[in-house]
Amino acid sequence: MKIIDLKGRVKLNDGNKMPYLGLGVYKAKSGEEVYRSVRTALDVGYRLIDTAKFYGNEKGVGRAIRESGVDRSEVFVTTKLWIDDQGENTEKALQNSLKELDMDYVDLFLIHWPVPGQYLKSWEILQKLKNSGRTKSIGVSNCLQHQLESIKNMGGEPPAVLQNEFHPRLIQQDLLDHCKSECIQYQSWSPLMRGQILQNELLNELAEKYSKTEAQVVLRWNLQKGVATIPKSVHENRIRENADIFDFKLSETDMQLIDSLENGYRTGAHPDHFMEHFNS
Ligand code: NDP
Repeated sequence: MKIIDLKGRVKLNDGNKMPYLGLGVYKAKSGEEVYRSVRTALDVGYRLIDTAKFYGNEKGVGRAIRESGVDRSEVFVTTKLWIDDQGENTEKALQNSLKELDMDYVDLFLIHWPVPGQYLKSWEILQKLKNSGRTKSIGVSNCLQHQLESIKNMGGEPPAVLQNEFHPRLIQQDLLDHCKSECIQYQSWSPLMRGQILQNELLNELAEKYSKTEAQVVLRWNLQKGVATIPKSVHENRIRENADIFDFKLSETDMQLIDSLENGYRTGAHPDHFMEHFNS
C-alpha cells in the first residue's frame, strides 16, 4: 500500500480502488450527530464512510453525503448485511440499506458476521448483487482463516476486503499474512481500541518522539502495516486529528515495538462465538 494522503486509495482484487483511511460511524447517533460527523469528515477530505444497517444511521449518512457537495462518485460508501438478514433475505437487506441511504449503489457490501449455516449462501447472493451493480465490491467482516477458506472453496469470487477488529492488542499477524497472500485487503475496525489504547506508556513515548498524538501514531501504524482503517469520532477536532497522519513515518523499530503490544485482547466478539454474544 503506497501511503500518500487522505484521498489516497488502495487497489482491491476486483480492480476497484478504496480509500485507505475513512470515517466509522458505529454509535454515532442517527440524525444530527451522524449527519454532522459525516459532513465534517467530507469537508476535511475523508472519502470513505463506513456504516451498517445495525448502526441505525444509514439515513443520516446518505443525507450528509448528498448535501456535502462532494460528488457521489468520489465517496466510497460501505454498508453491511446484518446477522438476521443472511441467507434468503440478503438481497432485500441491501435494497433496504440503499433505500435508507437513498442511493442506487454502495461501494462495498460486507457480510457483517459469518453466521454459521448462512454466510456461504449470503456470499453466493453478494456475488449476484455485485454483478447487478448495486454494490461495486463485496467483502466480509469478522472472519478467521477457516471462514475465508470455506468461501474460497465455493470457487466463486473472493472477498475484496476483510474488515476485522485490529489494534495494537489484536494484530493476528498470520491472518494478515494470509490475506496478503490471497490479495484480500485488510481493514481495521476499532483501530483505537475504542479509545482504550491511548493511555499506553509506549504510545505516550512515541507520540512525544514524533510530536503527534497517540491516536495518530496508532493510525499511522495501521497504514504502515498495510491495513486500511476507519476510526470513528463525532468530534471535529478528532476527525481532523485522525486524518493528520501523512507528515510522518514510524521507523521499523518503532513499528515492531507497537507490534509487541499484542496480547490477543478483543473489545468485541470472537468470530467463532459471536452468536452467544449477540443473543445474550
Ligand atoms: P475506534 O477504535 O474508532 O474508537 C472510537 C472511540 O474513540 C470513540 O469513543 C471516539 O470518541 C474515540 N476517539 C476517536 N478519535 C479519537 C482521538 N483522536 N483521541 C481520543 N479519542 C478518540 O472504535 P470503533 O468501534 O468505533 O471502530 C471504528 C469503526 O469501525 C466503527 O465506527 C464502525 O464503522 C466500524 N466497526 C465495525 C465493526 C464490525 O463488526 N465490522 C465492529 C465495530 C466497529 P468520540 O466519537 O466521542 O470522539
